[in-house]
Amino acid sequence: MDIQTVMEELNQMTAERDWDQFHSPENLAKSIMIEGGELLECFQWDAEHYDLDRVKAELADVLSYCLMLCDKLHLDPAQIVHGKLQSTLKKYPVEKAKGKNTKYTDL
Ligand SMILES: [Mg+2]
Repeated sequence: MDIQTVMEELNQMTAERDWDQFHSPENLAKSIMIEGGELLECFQWDAEHYDLDRVKAELADVLSYCLMLCDKLHLDPAQIVHGKLQSTLKKYPVEKAKGKNTKYTDL
C-alpha cells in the first residue's frame, strides 16, 4: 500500500462522516501534537518496556494527521520531506557532524 492510497482512505473516512468542517490547518496541527503526546506516553516511566501495538497505533495517528495537513495545504509529503532533508544535509555535513548530536550552529 502506498501513501496515495492511504490518503484516499483518509479522505473517504473524512467525507463520509462530514468531518472536514473540523479539519482546519490549526486543528490538524493541534491534533498532530496531541497524538505526539500520546505516542510519548507509550514510553513514560519505562522507556525500555513499551507496548509495540500501542506505539504503532499512536504513530499511525500522528502520521494520519500529518498526511491530512499536507493534503489540506496541497503539499506533497515526500516532496517536503525531501526538500527538508536537502537542507539538513547542508547544515550537517558528514565531516563535521558524524557521531555528534551538536546543533549545526555549534559544529
Ligand atoms: Mg491516539
